[in-house]
This record gives sequence, structure tokens and C-alpha cells, in this order.
Amino acid sequence: MEDARPKIDRAIEILAECKTIPEVKKIRDEYLALQTAAEESRKSIAVVNGFAEIVIRAERRLGQLIKPLLDEEAKRKSEWMKAARESFAPGKPQSCAFCRRFRSIVHAHHIWPLVQQFDDHHGIDEPDHRSVWLCPNHHALIHAFFNRADDDADRGHRSFEALNDIDDEHERTAFIRWCLNLVGVES
Ligand SMILES: [Zn+2]
Ligand SMILES: [Zn+2]
Repeated sequence: MEDARPKIDRAIEILAECKTIPEVKKIRDEYLALQTAAEESRKSIAVVNGFAEIVIRAERRLGQLIKPLLDEEAKRKSEWMKAARESFAPGKPQSCAFCRRFRSIVHAHHIWPLVQQFDDHHGIDEPDHRSVWLCPNHHALIHAFFNRADDDADRGHRSFEALNDIDDEHERTAFIRWCLNLVGVES
């Protein structure tokens, strides 16, 4: 009869005393390995479930420890964005850098969008305020083109589909080339 219960109960006590992410992660990894080994060597369900219980408890504890760090990061981000916006002085509006029209309604567009600057460098550096004036349409289109999905796998993905609203093929190609040149990618 394999009785893993005393070991499990002891692990629960140890977990309750853990205060740091590495401590909890070590227990989580250790018990995940024990769980896998127990499954592979066909130990009883009670033993496997005992180890699995520790893995679940450790992951829940990790979630609790990580949350304040995520909150802190979100706060840092919004403060950095606010300060960056306040230090941005794009000057007198000019007509759209792509279509050369609509000077009265243009937006200043950061060539390296502020939110991406923070995400790429954690807002350590001074904001890069290189910018161009764009009409509302070309502003929306450049953001659609350089969209960044939340999913890391899709990061840097360029949404050519988003540009299908430009009916004229030559204009579409010219816009894509212009966008890539703007960020220093030869096309
Ligand atoms: Zn335009
Ligand atoms: Zn913009």
C-alpha cells in the first residue's frame, strides 16, 4: 500500500509558508515531475491525485503572488504613457505625409507607437517622439497595417488584409511601401 498522504499534507504546509515565486515554482515543478513519474509507473490513482493536488495548489498560489506584479506593471505603463504624451510636441500640423491632403484634420502619429515603445523596452528609455502627420484614414490604416496582436505568436504580424479597403491596387502597394520605408524596412 503506497501512502503518499503524509508527504502531500507536509507539502500543503510548506506551500502555505512560501512567500516567493521561485519557492512556489520549485514545489510546483517538483510535484509535476512526481505526478508524471507516478502516472508512468502506474501508481494508484490516489497517489497520482495527491501529487496533482499539490501542482494545482502551487499554481493557484503562483497566481496570487504574480497578480500584484502585473498590477504594478499596468500602473507603470499608464504613468509612462501619460508622461510620454505630455512631453510630445509635434509642432504645427502639416498635410498628410502620405496623401498630402487634409491638413486641418491630421493626427500626429508616432512612427514607433508609444504603447509599443513601452512593451518593447519597458518604458526605461526616453520616449522616441519621431512622428509624422497623417489624415484620419491613413492614420487608421497604418495602425491596422502594423497591428500587434496580444498573442505573442502574432507579434509583428503585418495585416495586409486590413489594407483591402484601398481599392486601387497601385495606391495600396504604394501605401504599403511607404509604411515600410517609414519604419526603415526596405521594400
Ligand atoms: Zn492621408
Ligand atoms: Zn498613430
